[in-house]
Amino acid sequence: ESVMEKVLQRRSLRMRNMQRAWQESPEGRKILDFRRSLPAFKEKERLLQAIAQNQVVVISGETGCGKTTQLPQYLLESEIETGRGAFCSIICTQPRRISAMAVSERVSIERGEPLGETVGYKVRLEGMKGKNTHLLFCTSGILLRRLLSDRNLNGITHVFVDEIHERGMNEDFLLIVLKDLLPRRRDLRLVLMSATLNAELFSSYFGGAPTIHIPGFTFPVRAYFLEDVLEVTGYKLTSFNQIDDYGQEKTWKTQKQLVPRKRKNQITTLVEDALDKSTLGNYSSNTRDSLSSWMPDCIGFNLIEAVLCHICRKERPGAVLVFLTGWEDISSLRDQLKAHPLLGDPNRVLLLTCHGSMATSEQRLIFEKPPQNVRKVVLATNMAEASITINDVVFVIDCGKAKETTYDALNNTPCLLPSWISQASARQRRGRAGRVQPGKCYHLYPKCVFAAFSEYQLPELLRTPLNSLCLQIKSLQVPSVGEFLSSALQPPEPLAVQNAIGFLKMIGAFDEKENLSNLGKFLSMLPVDPKLGKMLVMGAIFHCFDPILTIVSGLSVRDPFLLPQDKKDLAGTAKARFSAKDYSDHMALVRAYEGWKDAEREGSSYEYCWRNFLSAQTLQAIDSLRRQFSFILKDAGIVELDGSTSNKLSHNQSLVRAIICSGLFPGVASVVHRETSMSFKTMDDGQVLLYANSVNARYDTIPFPWLVFGEKVKVNTVFLRDSTGISDSMLILFGGAVKCGVQAGHLKMLNGYIEFFMDSSLAECYLQLKEELDKLIEN
Ligand code: ADP
Ligand code: MG
Repeated sequence: ESVMEKVLQRRSLRMRNMQRAWQESPEGRKILDFRRSLPAFKEKERLLQAIAQNQVVVISGETGCGKTTQLPQYLLESEIETGRGAFCSIICTQPRRISAMAVSERVSIERGEPLGETVGYKVRLEGMKGKNTHLLFCTSGILLRRLLSDRNLNGITHVFVDEIHERGMNEDFLLIVLKDLLPRRRDLRLVLMSATLNAELFSSYFGGAPTIHIPGFTFPVRAYFLEDVLEVTGYKLTSFNQIDDYGQEKTWKTQKQLVPRKRKNQITTLVEDALDKSTLGNYSSNTRDSLSSWMPDCIGFNLIEAVLCHICRKERPGAVLVFLTGWEDISSLRDQLKAHPLLGDPNRVLLLTCHGSMATSEQRLIFEKPPQNVRKVVLATNMAEASITINDVVFVIDCGKAKETTYDALNNTPCLLPSWISQASARQRRGRAGRVQPGKCYHLYPKCVFAAFSEYQLPELLRTPLNSLCLQIKSLQVPSVGEFLSSALQPPEPLAVQNAIGFLKMIGAFDEKENLSNLGKFLSMLPVDPKLGKMLVMGAIFHCFDPILTIVSGLSVRDPFLLPQDKKDLAGTAKARFSAKDYSDHMALVRAYEGWKDAEREGSSYEYCWRNFLSAQTLQAIDSLRRQFSFILKDAGIVELDGSTSNKLSHNQSLVRAIICSGLFPGVASVVHRETSMSFKTMDDGQVLLYANSVNARYDTIPFPWLVFGEKVKVNTVFLRDSTGISDSMLILFGGAVKCGVQAGHLKMLNGYIEFFMDSSLAECYLQLKEELDKLIEN
């Protein structure tokens, strides 16, 4: 026996002793009692046996039955108990970073250990794990990254892939890779966990793997649809012709006037009208699109407020969970509710939020019991649908929508827009109210709309651009990306794959034969969209690294500029102060970030954020992402360690603009000036509008022929969220040939140049660069 073996055996014994000591302690027993009350416990032996006897097992069970926190833990405990604790290494993936963190913390509490000991987590930018960690919760993205460098997952004994029913892109991708790995690693065990009942799909994908269902236990939940909600709340809505221009300031104001809060029962206008007349009666299941325009979200807010009031006044105790589409809605609704006499009173209502980017401290609050006679209200994204369980929820309010990225392969455009959820999601949301006692769920849409929902949501793989995915697949040394993807659970359209490959060729990540270039290899290592990754490399090459670093980090975290519903004007003015006639949201971001760093040094960052309507939390996230990117680029030798030359040209605004263009292309809109007005046209959507909070929305004229943009959002019309003005020459030199009617020569030259750079030393490059740069800037 090797020395190593002996060491591990000794450690396994120690692990067993510690585990037994905890389970026999009073506190440990109490937690064990709780764990034994979960539905998963009854299936424990069957599960362990199935895992021992089969390489792949599929497990389904109601949310909250104990899949995530218990199943990997049972396995760990059983390995420890049989004296093999130190030999096992279990990974459990989560679709979202926040659930990986919350779950690992919960499991380590259940084991009476500090986080980072036997149980740890790892997500982008953060992690808690040590050499004694044998159960690791991580995002699916992290496991994929590990697979890039360690194709056989050496040392890992068990992989749990959780929440597969969500059909996230990373999960679907993981399944392809793992399916391919299993024959090579006969000893590796794979467990798939899913909340809903389509286990057969996954089982047959893995050649008929056994499935185990954990019978759930939930209380009945009474469903109210909009018809009933209106009756319950005595609330009536305006006829919606008057308010169909959602997104405009004036709509909101009108809305408030039409719905005086204090006279709830006497509100004059009428949705009932709308409800039984033509508008809703004749929707069929293939008109999901037209559905989305029937009720603007701002009405939804007032309706939610009315339902909340009703619950707080008339209903028995119990927490309320409100499903909204995203952070913007959550924060504006929170602001609205805070101004309400009942709902805004902290002695009566504890108002909390739950979304992907909340801080850990905030996250803990949502699990805690509120003080006596205070009602907990949690405003959440669809994250609270399955991956996070709040125990004391008795009431659910479901707006019926979720933000979903959609992808139109024909036009090759990604869009992020709130759209109707599936029937499966609606049921799942409803189920969240019946965890501890019978509950109630208020769906804020009529029953006929529910009937028109599709049964399941389309898998993410079929509704997102595949750029990043194809790059990652290629770096797994797969010969043909298309062939690889055709073995997915539900393969994407060949056209979508072709688009992605074409894009990767255009930005120079793939060469003509679809092989990874040096740039491509590097981009696959960056945890960011490849085009933003390229923007970073360009920023480094063209010596304006810092501003580009801030922009790329900002675009991959989220916008730090807040837009409170009732202070839109003030917030807009505050943001405009960061744009000294730059005509650029991206440069406003750079200035805001730099100002924040200064304020931080002076100890006044809190005031600074408050005054300028900035989110401190987002700025912090941007800051840490900046550090990570900076580290990776320095490590790769693309930026010098001392940063001496990488910022030589950061003050050159034209250059920074050009580099922004190089990253955001083909996100370009032309600026069309008419006598008194200005309009914008993208290549495929035609007419678009600027988002109210964009600095460019404040001008009557823009002295640039083009705007490049990072994101567009469709709410009836298409809005550009963020944009920067650029000139013709910037577009020609740094954009691309596609659809612009411009020769591809420049782009080729640029890509060739980057390749040269990636392959040679900095000094060599600099000489070459200076010459080229001078030429480019002169033009
Ligand atoms: P599933 O993965 O099947 O949805 P989980 O394993 O996440 O279920 O949760 C099982 C149970 O453990 C929940 O119903 C809840 O009672 C409890 N639980 C989970 N996370 C926490 C937490 N952070 N704090 C307190 N209890 C929790
Ligand atoms: Mg779970």
